[in-house]
Parts: sequence; structure tokens; C-alpha cells
Amino acid sequence: DVRVRFCPSPTGLPHVGMVRTALYNWAYARHTGGKMIFRVEDTDAARDSEESYRQLVDALTWLEIDWDEGVEKGGPHEPYRQSQRGEIYAGVLQKLIEAGAVYESYSTAEEIDARNEAAGRAKQLGYDNFDRTLTDEQKAAFRAEGREPAWRVRVPEHDVTYVDLIRGEVTFPAGSFPDFVVVRAGGQPLYTFTNPVDDALMGITHVIRGEDLMPSTARQLALYAALVDAGVTDFMPRFGHMPLVLGETGNKKLSKRDPQADLFLQREKGFIHEGLLNYLALLGWSIGPDRDIFSLEEFTAAFDIVNVNPNPARFDQKKAESINGDHIRMLSPEDFAARIVPYLRAGGVVGEELTTEQSALVAAAAPLVQERVQLLGEVPGMLGFLFTDELTYADDALASLPANAGEVLVASVGALELVPESEFTAAAVQEALSAALIEGLALKPRVAYGPPRVAISGRRISPPLFESMELLGKAESIRRLGALVT
Ligand code: GLU
Repeated sequence: DVRVRFCPSPTGLPHVGMVRTALYNWAYARHTGGKMIFRVEDTDAARDSEESYRQLVDALTWLEIDWDEGVEKGGPHEPYRQSQRGEIYAGVLQKLIEAGAVYESYSTAEEIDARNEAAGRAKQLGYDNFDRTLTDEQKAAFRAEGREPAWRVRVPEHDVTYVDLIRGEVTFPAGSFPDFVVVRAGGQPLYTFTNPVDDALMGITHVIRGEDLMPSTARQLALYAALVDAGVTDFMPRFGHMPLVLGETGNKKLSKRDPQADLFLQREKGFIHEGLLNYLALLGWSIGPDRDIFSLEEFTAAFDIVNVNPNPARFDQKKAESINGDHIRMLSPEDFAARIVPYLRAGGVVGEELTTEQSALVAAAAPLVQERVQLLGEVPGMLGFLFTDELTYADDALASLPANAGEVLVASVGALELVPESEFTAAAVQEALSAALIEGLALKPRVAYGPPRVAISGRRISPPLFESMELLGKAESIRRLGALVT
């Protein structure tokens, strides 16, 4: 059975790259009926934080990416925080020592550099496998100096080859990577150790992660082979490395610090999770030619890791927003109305608690903008005028008023006065204004409706005018039209 994992190090804010990793793992688990394991790789006490872990959980919960085993969820391989697995790592290290897969290493960085220099060996080659052949006397002498050993994995003398699920055959030539430290002097286990050890202990079958981690795969395969030899596990997982995500311009990787990469910022702007996930799914995968929009169900049904494209994918904010707009239009009107409330709050349009009238107005006004926005964050600016008694006018809106604006507004007031309050519908408003302005004043619609629009909404561009007046009601509409007559 497929077992995949999402195993971030909790540092900093959740970003787009991380979420795509979680998404592809999740989709693969759901596609195959397998399990998704959420493990926290918090072995770096200086950089990891609980707050960052909380934010990750918040982000995944918002996105509705769920998992089957994890910190709060529990599962057969608890604990799921690496910071709590110290004894487990010590036990596995012991097995590797007994199997002869790791050895004591006393070389300091300075000593390695000095030896490389003396041998005319390039510094970049790094460690020279010096301690592999230490005698018992040499080890005892180092210990007598008060030195403690680090533990290194003996890497194979032959090429290491594996078949990447996304990239096909990959070979790391023999000698291209030296014996590496898995546990520091003092006992601190490193990522090179804890990551494959936990994958082995947790029965991970598919390691799906970013291309930036490919170089560590050579070492992890070497360690994995040792874990199999030592009887810690009886199989090797398959590896698949997802393409890089590039920033909007140039050929640079999307940086964690790019605003587009900031997941909470994207949420604040008004992505709905369906739209963002749809877009993130496209960063390295496609459901078919000429098709961009799909639901999460369609995604998990169609997704297979072997169809991921190895070529870099470019993050395109405009395209992401346009896809989000499509998903916004697919929401039911009730769902859309519910989802805009937090944005109306954040925009100061409504308070923490909505009054009954405000709730009704949200429900009635939502359809006026659902077809028009790509981001929920656009909504407060568009609907704010319906929720206030003190309309403010945008400068460009006032500047757009023609010389005859006063005449148009007076005629509008006159026409609306004649519409009975109980029949003050969008259709009735349109009929009355059309008769007064288009026929009466012989104006073109574009010219005629400009001044009433500014008077009603304070803006040059607004949701449909007649519907807006219906929502404001007769008295308030007339008051606003009159207020702009000077
Ligand atoms: N904790 C590692 C990271 O966040 C996980 C790498 C992996 O998926 O193997 O980079």
C-alpha cells in the first residue's frame, strides 16, 4: 500500500513550494487509496518554531489537505515530531554500528582542509574518507585528547543508480560524494539521518519532494541500503523529484520571500482554496490539453506521480487569479456570500457581529459581484457603498462628472420620486431612469448613467446600478442622488 509523507521543517511562513509538495503527496495518496503521513522535521532547535508548525497546520486545514497520521492525529508510528524521537535514532545508530555501516570520525573541518591542501585535492571535494581506516590505537588516542566522534556512513565504491518516478534513471557516479556525517559528535542526529530513518521506520513507499533535494538522494540511498542490511527495513522507497517553481520573471527559483510565495498573503488577497489548489496543481502537471480548470475530486482521480513534468514550472500570478475567478463563479450563491464575510470584516465594511439587516444585505448583494471578481479581496471595495450612511467619493469619480451632471441628477430624482416605494425594483428603476434620461434628455446610456452611478456608489465603476438602487431602497437612493447636486 502506498504511504507518502509531507515532512517540512517548521521554519518561517508556509509558502507555495511547500504547499505544492503537500498537495502532490496528498493527491497521490488519495489517488491510490494510500496513506498520507505528516511528520515534523524539527531537529534544528535554533530555527524551528512551534508557531511555524501551527501556521502550517492552519494553511493545510484552510486548503482542506488532510492527512492520515501525524502529530495531533496520532498513528502507529508515534511520535511524529523528530524532536521527540531521539531514543529511536540512538537505537538505529546502534544497529548501523553493529552492522559496520557507519564508523567513528574524528576529523575536524580544519584537518580535512589541511589534508586536502597537502594532497593537492580540491577543497570542494570535501571529506577524504580519512577516518575509514583508523586503527583502534588511533581512535583511543583521539579519545584520550578528549575528542568525541561523529558517525559517518561508508558510501559505496560503485555508482549509485535509481529510477526517479518523474525523471527516469539517475546515476551518481562512484566517488562523487564522500562518506557523510549522520550523527554529530555529542549525539545530535542530522537531517541526512533522521529523514531516511523515519521514512524506513514509517514504511514510506514513495518519497515525493522538490528537485532541490535531489543531491541528498545519493546519500540517502546509501544510508537506506545500510538500513536494509541492518534489518531496520526490508525495502527501499521509490523517489520522485518535482520540478522547480520559478518566479514570475527570469530563471530564478521562486523565493520563499517573494510575495507570490506567501500563502497567507495570497489568502488575504482573496484566493479561495479551490482556486489556489487548482493553480498549484498545474505547477508541474496537467489534466489534459487545453484544460486548466478542474475540481479537487477530478484532480485526485486523474493525478499520477509518473505524469508530473520534470521541467521547471513558472508561477504566474495573473493566471492563478484568473483560475481563482473561475472557481469563485462555480460557488453556490450562498457559499460565495458566506466566504465574502471575513473580507467585508477585514475591509471594515461590517463589524465582528453582523446585524440581521447586514446579513440580508450581504446575501442580496453577493450575486452582484460574484461574476465580477477574481479575488475575494476585491469585494469590500465593490460593495462597501451599500453598507454605509456616509458615502465617500473617489477623486477620479468626481473628476469624471460631465458639465450637465446636475441636470441629470435632478431629472433622476424627479423620475424616481414617481416610482412607488413598494415597487422600487431594479426593473422599475431602470424604466424610470431610462424614460427620464435617455428619452427625456436624449442622452446616450453611457453618459446618462455616469452621474447617478457616482452619486450612488462614489465610484466610476460599480456593481450594476439599478440593482444597487433597489438594495439601497427608494429613500436612500434619492438622498444620494440629491446629495451630489451642488
Ligand atoms: N524537512 C525537509 C525539508 O523541509 C524534508 C525534505 C524531504 O522531503 O525529504 O526540506
